[in-house]
Amino acid sequence: MTGTPVRLDLSSPSRGPRGKPPKHFVDLTPEQRVAAVTELGEQPFRAKQLATHYFTHLTSDPQAMTDLPKATRDKLAAELFPRLITASRTLTADRGTTVKTLWHLFDGAKVESVLMRYPNRSTLCISSQAGCGLACAFCATGQLGLTRNLSTAEIVEQVRAAARSLADGEVPGGPGRLNNVVFMGMGEPLANYKSVMETVRRLVAPTPDGLGMSARNVTVSTVGLVPAMDKLAKEGIPVTLALSLHAPDDELRSELVPVNTRWSVDEALDSARRYFDATGRRVSIEYALIRDVNDHAWRADLLGEKLNARGRGWVHCNPIPLNPVPGSRWTASDPAVEREFVARLRAHGVPTTVRDTRGSEIDGACGQLAAEEDE
Ligand code: SAH
Repeated sequence: MTGTPVRLDLSSPSRGPRGKPPKHFVDLTPEQRVAAVTELGEQPFRAKQLATHYFTHLTSDPQAMTDLPKATRDKLAAELFPRLITASRTLTADRGTTVKTLWHLFDGAKVESVLMRYPNRSTLCISSQAGCGLACAFCATGQLGLTRNLSTAEIVEQVRAAARSLADGEVPGGPGRLNNVVFMGMGEPLANYKSVMETVRRLVAPTPDGLGMSARNVTVSTVGLVPAMDKLAKEGIPVTLALSLHAPDDELRSELVPVNTRWSVDEALDSARRYFDATGRRVSIEYALIRDVNDHAWRADLLGEKLNARGRGWVHCNPIPLNPVPGSRWTASDPAVEREFVARLRAHGVPTTVRDTRGSEIDGACGQLAAEEDE
C-alpha cells in the first residue's frame, strides 16, 4: 500500500452549485403536508389521502388517486410529487431475485439500489449520497469522490419503488413485501445525517404517515463517524447500527478507512458500545476480508479481544469476502483463511456470520456500487 494522502470530504455538498432537488411531499412532516395542501387551496384532509396513496399504496401517480377530483389530484401531484428518481437501467441476478437499479436524479447525478429477495424475506440496499467522500481504499464508491447528498425524498423514493415492485409481483416469488432496508449502498449515511434521519422517520412511522417498518429492520451502516453515531444513539429510534471496521489496529485501519485518522478503532468501538447501551440493539461489525491484508489470525484474535474488552453480548461480527473492485489489486481471502478467521472470532465468543456476496456478478454487492452506465 502507498502512503498517498487522501482528502476526506465531510462537507455539506447540498449547498454546492448543483442546487437542491425539488421539494417533495415526503420531505415534509405530517403537519407540513397539511400546510402544503392548504396553501395550494385544498382541504386539509387531502394530505392524509395523498399520504395513503404514497405510503400505503406506494404510488405517486395521480391517475391512481381516484378518490380525489381529477383537477385536484393533477394539481397536487404536479406540485408535491415531482419526479425525483428515474430508473435508467436494471440488472438482475439469482434468477431475477437480485435486482440492481441505476437511478438518474434530477440534476444528472446517479445512484444505485439493490433489492435482494430471499425465500422468506427481502432486503433493499439504498444509497444516501451520490458518490462518497470517505475514500475507503477497497470500495468502488470510495474511488468516485462525493457528488452530493441525497434529499430525504430521493432516498425514500428508492424504498417506495422497491416495495411497489415487490407488491406488484415483479420479482419472482409472487407478490411480496419489503422487510428490511439497509443503508449500505452508495455514500456514508452519517455524513448526510439530517436527510438520513428523516428517511428513517418516514420508514418507521406507522402508515399512512410513513411505511410502518420496524426500526430493527432498518440498518444504518457507518465508517465510524463517532459524533454522529453518538447522536444517532439519542434519537430514540433503535435502528440496527453497523460499523465498518475492517481492521482492529489503527495502523492498518487508517490505510483502509482513512477517516480512522480522525476517529480511531477504540473510539469507534467505544461509541458502538454506547449505541448498544442506549438502544439495546446489538451492533454489527463489518469486516471485508482482504487476502493477506487484514485476514491474519492474530487480527481475528485482536478483534475478539477488543470486542470482549467492552463486554459480552453487545456485538455481532459480519466478515464479508472482499468483492472485486475494478482496478484494485486486492482479492478475497483464501477460504481456509476465512474459516480460520471466523473460527477465532467464535472461539472468543463473538457471534459471527459470514455475509453473502449476493449480486457480485452484477457489481451489486458491498462496495461495488459505482453507478457506471456501461459495464
Ligand atoms: N459508508 C457506509 C455505508 C456503505 S456500506 C459504510 O462504510 O459502512 C457498504 C459496506 O460494504 C461497508 O461495510 C463497506 O466497508 C463494505 N465494503 C466496501 N467495499 C467492499 C468490498 N469491495 N467488498 C466487500 N465489502 C465492501
